[in-house]
Amino acid sequence: MFEDNSPKTSLSELGEFGLIDHLTRFVEIYQPSTLKGIGDDAAVIHHKDEATVVTTDMLVEGVHFDLAYMPLKHLGYKAVMVNLSDVYAMNAEATQITVSIAASNRFPVEALEELYAGITLAAKTYKVDVVGGDTTSSTSGLVISITALGRVDPKKVTSRDGAKPNDLLVVTGDLGAAYMGLQVLEREKQVFKVNPNAQPDLEPYAYLVERQLKPEARKDIPDLLAALEVQPTSMIDISDGLSSEVIHICKSSKVGANIFEEKIPLDPAVISVCEEFNIDSTTIALNGGEDYELLFTVDQKDFDKIKANPNLTIVGHITEEREGMHLVTRGNQKIPIKAQGWNSFDDEKEED
Ligand code: ADP
Ligand code: MG
Repeated sequence: MFEDNSPKTSLSELGEFGLIDHLTRFVEIYQPSTLKGIGDDAAVIHHKDEATVVTTDMLVEGVHFDLAYMPLKHLGYKAVMVNLSDVYAMNAEATQITVSIAASNRFPVEALEELYAGITLAAKTYKVDVVGGDTTSSTSGLVISITALGRVDPKKVTSRDGAKPNDLLVVTGDLGAAYMGLQVLEREKQVFKVNPNAQPDLEPYAYLVERQLKPEARKDIPDLLAALEVQPTSMIDISDGLSSEVIHICKSSKVGANIFEEKIPLDPAVISVCEEFNIDSTTIALNGGEDYELLFTVDQKDFDKIKANPNLTIVGHITEEREGMHLVTRGNQKIPIKAQGWNSFDDEKEED
């Protein structure tokens, strides 16, 4: 994606310090809690009497991203989103990030500039401060590790272990689009290999491709929950598909759950592309990944506060642990939810 005709500057020309200065020259400070940012031995953050949340995610070329269809600017943006999503999943406000990059000399300075343009755009959009990081060489490929910090009233922290039987299971946004966006991009990559002159028409898939290449973390949800005066009993971000996240909450909280297939929020574009690819859309919502939506549980008494909100969908409820975790299909069959998906409807059917 960065193989264009613009001038190339090798990483060694700038040197490590020159490169850091160059990449971070547009970094701005938005948060009053950032006392010291880039340029010292360590950043200094002061969150007064609130709790600090910290989370890290690493993205490795060839494992988490493929530069054949992931523009570097999008990669930088997404690397920040992955981390902010984890902060919001704690019901916290994201405030700072650190950015560590390892790149081989296959990458010119201009490529890292693109990456950094995505990172600084994300920082600006989400009002988080880039307060430090590390920049080093790698023998092959690109690695980005971001650490995000956030602040939260200790009474409002939502972990994975607070769900109780009869709580409602709630999902933000819609599911499966990012995974189907990846399928569309993979298909175009194969077409391109056979015919490099083929012009892909991605217009019908715009929403899906956007969800894959430029995901947005749900910064609005902790604010919305505060405005609705709802304190979730547990929360997690949906990065590996709904099944996996429900299992995390149930295991941590020692409870079971029922998810209703008909309630799972799907964008019409996901339904139509699943038909085109001949894949079951429920499977995609349950086992696809990278939606960066939030899954949370609330007490039944909060039903009226959330029922009409267009951002929120009640997809099921929590049960006693011994009842297990199930998907209730449109045909009213109960199918156990398993860690690595439940690809076959024919396995382990349990009639209700
Ligand atoms: P040190 O030798 O103390 O590790 P460095 O020379 O690695 O310091 O970094 C100098 C400053 O630049 C530090 O404030 C560090 O946090 C920051 N920094 C280094 N790399 C990055 C990066 N990729 N993004 C943001 N800040 C960075
Ligand atoms: Mg360093």
